[in-house]
Amino acid sequence: MNIHEYQAKQLFAEFGIPVPAGAACHKEEEFAAAADQIPGGIWVVKAQIHAGGRGKGTFTDGYKGGVQVTKTKEDAIAAAKKMLGNTLVTKQTGPAGRVVRTIYFNEACSIKHEYYLAILLDRSCSKPVVIASTEGGMNIEEVAEKTPEKIAKVWIDPAIGMRAYQATELAFRLGFVGDEAKQFKKLVLNLYKLYAAKDCTLVEINPMVATNDGKIVALDAKVSFDDNSLFRHPEVEALRDITEEDPKEVEARKFDLNYIALDGSIACLVNGAGLAMSTMDIIKYCGGSPANFLDVGGSATVEQVTAAFRIITQDPHVKGILVNIFGGIMSCLTIAEGIVEAAKTVEIKVPLVVRLEGNQVEEGKKVLAESGLKITPADSLIDGARKAVAEVNAFVAANK
Ligand code: ADP
Ligand code: MG
Repeated sequence: MNIHEYQAKQLFAEFGIPVPAGAACHKEEEFAAAADQIPGGIWVVKAQIHAGGRGKGTFTDGYKGGVQVTKTKEDAIAAAKKMLGNTLVTKQTGPAGRVVRTIYFNEACSIKHEYYLAILLDRSCSKPVVIASTEGGMNIEEVAEKTPEKIAKVWIDPAIGMRAYQATELAFRLGFVGDEAKQFKKLVLNLYKLYAAKDCTLVEINPMVATNDGKIVALDAKVSFDDNSLFRHPEVEALRDITEEDPKEVEARKFDLNYIALDGSIACLVNGAGLAMSTMDIIKYCGGSPANFLDVGGSATVEQVTAAFRIITQDPHVKGILVNIFGGIMSCLTIAEGIVEAAKTVEIKVPLVVRLEGNQVEEGKKVLAESGLKITPADSLIDGARKAVAEVNAFVAANK
């Protein structure tokens, strides 16, 4: 789960990480009062969307820049008005962009230098890694590729936590001395505390800046959380902004379905994450492309299967459905009943291929055969994938 910059900066402040003064608002009527809270006489007006690259982004009406530095309150409010409700396209949003629903006014900092700092999970060694670079504010992927020596990394033993000497090493690599080094060490140690305490998968500050008046400050903030930990962080769950999420994924979550939208044309309905992964692989192998990852779980109910069908059939990219069930704890009969139940309320206009195997397979097949639904049965995973790809291709050709 991701949150907005203004929410991430509130968390930073709670953990003692310095951020500029800021005020977020969602309505035009609130702009003046929010702008009044910002000291210093220069306002940085920032569009809030769950994507980076805002500074270099362009709105769909041609207005340039989702981060604006303004010298009068009037200009700050004018910039905020241009942004609110407008659609911002950045390198990270894709061409459709994202609608801006929140504006964040920030105190301006006099920047001496921009750095990059992040903590994320290094899956190759099962440890959090702290990444820092003197080349912040830019495309960090490019820095890593062209000048890897400019990226410093330290790996943290999660059982021990980040040690002071590791912060010292990073301060040295970034060239900090004296009071700046002291501030940086405190900042990075606090950032690790936040990362660990809130079960984050990523905390990123790009840029972290050294200011001309000797301060180290987080000017941008990105925080992502491990969805599997949300049950123990209701305060984090409360920060969720569902308008930033795929509505299909929001709906799926209501029914406890593990669903991730993808951009292909074959919807998959599978039980078990491993089987879902191999189903997607085999669709690719057969020349098709999956429209989603969907794991209905080991003990799905008829209601969940119905919801799953409703979600996948609402997706206009879906040109065919492959149901692939290996009945273990899950019974094939439940799936069959779910499909029949779903067909009563949602119209299935695209080809449907069903492969059932395992627990109560005969009963399940019988229910489907007697349902009168137009279903292509398949005998194995590869058979199901081949049939799904062939039927989708035929369907697309017929509906050109
Ligand atoms: P994004 O990464 O989405 O483009 P940032 O928050 O990093 O957005 O802002 C882009 C750039 O704007 C920063 O690299 C920095 O140079 C400048 N900037 C952002 N916030 C401030 C601020 N409070 N004071 C001065 N400059 C800022
Ligand atoms: Mg940034």
